[in-house]
Amino acid sequence: MTTISTIKSDPAAARIVQADTDPDRNCPLCPRLVEFREETRARQPSWFNSPVPSFGDPDSRLLIVGLAPGMQGANRTGRPFTGDYAGDLLYATLTEYGFAEGVYQARPDDGLRLVDCRISNAVHCVPPQNKPLPAEINVCRQFLIATIANMPSLRAIVALGRIAHESTLKALGLRAAAAPFAHGAMHQAGAIKLYDSYHCSRYNTNTRVLTPAMFRNVFAKVRADLS
Ligand code: SF4
Repeated sequence: MTTISTIKSDPAAARIVQADTDPDRNCPLCPRLVEFREETRARQPSWFNSPVPSFGDPDSRLLIVGLAPGMQGANRTGRPFTGDYAGDLLYATLTEYGFAEGVYQARPDDGLRLVDCRISNAVHCVPPQNKPLPAEINVCRQFLIATIANMPSLRAIVALGRIAHESTLKALGLRAAAAPFAHGAMHQAGAIKLYDSYHCSRYNTNTRVLTPAMFRNVFAKVRADLS
């Protein structure tokens, strides 16, 4: 069942932080992640091993917010959701609903093009065990705020998982209690619709928390609303 809520902006929380939309390659703001990044650079010198920039045109109407780069995926290849299972499901679904063109081949030079869609993450650096700390989520939010502020045509955001949902709410200056995370929910936030989905990770699909059909349903709603 679809949950729809309308949420009001909290002006006190809606601070616009002036920041670049993507962090510097050696962003120093999270000491634990910097140390982890340096270890990975030493171990895998041919990998990207840096904050992963957003992918897609800033003039798009749709923004997808993931959690953080996967070690073997975006952290290795440098493009969000590229190179691990989560990308297989995400890009297949985006292609099916007209938000991507080309053939996804799990590498950043595969020629895949996003259409009216941009992909970013709540946290730009790979965290140990895929688990960023609350302080890391909070400090990296300045880039999500800047990403959203620099999308003048933005109409829809799909948040993949509870952490992405909550960080996006805060980035929009909204109170989490007004819009609890639920797969399939849509929250109206001014001119922007925020859609929730379970994250398309291998773990979630292996455990059937998220099926490809459940994931497709979210993007079918987005496509219908944007059309
Ligand atoms: S997670 Fe974000 S804020 Fe923290 S070091 Fe990486 S890019 Fe910087």
